[in-house]
Amino acid sequence: MATLNAPRGTRDLLPEETPAWDRVEAVARDLGRRYAFDRIETPLFERVELFARGLGESSDAVEKEMFRVSGAAGSDEDRAGWALRPEPTAGIVRAYVEHGLHVRPGPLRLTMTGPMFRYDRPQAGRYRQFSQWDVEVIGDPGPAVDAELIELATRFYAEVGLTDVVAHVNSIGDAECRPGYRNALVEYFSQHLDRLTDDSRRRLEVNPLRVLDDKALAPDLADAAPKSADHLCDACRDHFRTVLDLLDALGLRHVVDHRLVRGLDYYTRTTFEFVIAGREGQQQALGGGGRYDGLAELIGGRSTPGIGFGIGLDRTILAMAEQAVTLPPPAPLVAVVGTGDDHASRLRVAGRLREAGLAVRPDGSSRKLGKQLEAAAKVGARWAVIVGDELERDEVGLKDLDSGEQRTISLDEVPGSIRG
Ligand code: AMP
Repeated sequence: MATLNAPRGTRDLLPEETPAWDRVEAVARDLGRRYAFDRIETPLFERVELFARGLGESSDAVEKEMFRVSGAAGSDEDRAGWALRPEPTAGIVRAYVEHGLHVRPGPLRLTMTGPMFRYDRPQAGRYRQFSQWDVEVIGDPGPAVDAELIELATRFYAEVGLTDVVAHVNSIGDAECRPGYRNALVEYFSQHLDRLTDDSRRRLEVNPLRVLDDKALAPDLADAAPKSADHLCDACRDHFRTVLDLLDALGLRHVVDHRLVRGLDYYTRTTFEFVIAGREGQQQALGGGGRYDGLAELIGGRSTPGIGFGIGLDRTILAMAEQAVTLPPPAPLVAVVGTGDDHASRLRVAGRLREAGLAVRPDGSSRKLGKQLEAAAKVGARWAVIVGDELERDEVGLKDLDSGEQRTISLDEVPGSIRG
């Protein structure tokens, strides 16, 4: 019979990989607490219309990469059209509008971690299912919070152990000044149509900013293209200037990147991405985000400013492996083995040690003691607690599996001896 494999673009995380995931998730959770974010969860799938309205029909996420799901064939759900979420912001803002969260004392600071789905061509660092740590601040027009979020993401990368992460920042203006910038881009690129890819020629008609996103765009053509920073209205220019001044004041490593327009329609003003310095262009971003002051209205709510970022955990972990980041050592593992066949005693002893907080793996076999100790060492146990007749006096054998040293001690003393 043919074997069954994980779907293309997805991965199984085997036990040797999950400690790195535990690490980044723990850092994200702790930063969420220290930066006073509240957890929110939204469904893994939403109406296609939410993404079409929020992200824009011409975004890659909607046009090419929507991972559609259907209810039972012919059902209402099937006709309505659902998609697995390609990103978290649209769902969170949908929840904000749906539950009237604007009445709560704000600004709201919300965080979520979980899988996202894009039906893209899989390659290194690009999967069809990947995970993001996401934070959103809704109801704060900035610019201080823009700098605070860039500082938060920078701290995340530092705390997971990555070095040389640099923030690329840009401002793409707002409803007042973006039309002028779009026109300038259309005018410029129309003179160079022969040098654009088919994809870019199409983008020039539907969403000219996205031509700058085209990886195949010739560098000289990109460098000479009109820059959004030169087309900002006064309010957007002041906002951007203040964000940059705050980043300087905080000593945060950043560069202004005029090509950084981000792929989604909902962004306004500040946009940012994080990459490893010196590797720009060779590798995809580790994370990114931006301000989306028009999104709540697109989803049917009142006009509400917002800003957020999504950090790609898969790519963060790949970068940690490339930089040979060492992870904190796991808690020492204790094996509970026994002479004789008294499994009730072994399980009781294991229970006592677990109550004291230790990680414990009892041997459920009736093999000879020597075999049990060998097996314990093979699965990585650092200590073996040997249960025998001394248990009547509440004593056990404690064997250091590294040195081979063994002594008999009271069960209550085991946790203290192991922790040293
Ligand atoms: P985006 O909204 O596309 O900027 O995504 C935010 C972050 O999520 C990116 O910077 C990546 O780190 C990560 N990401 C986006 N798409 C993928 C993907 N297909 N596979 C793995 N990570 C991804």
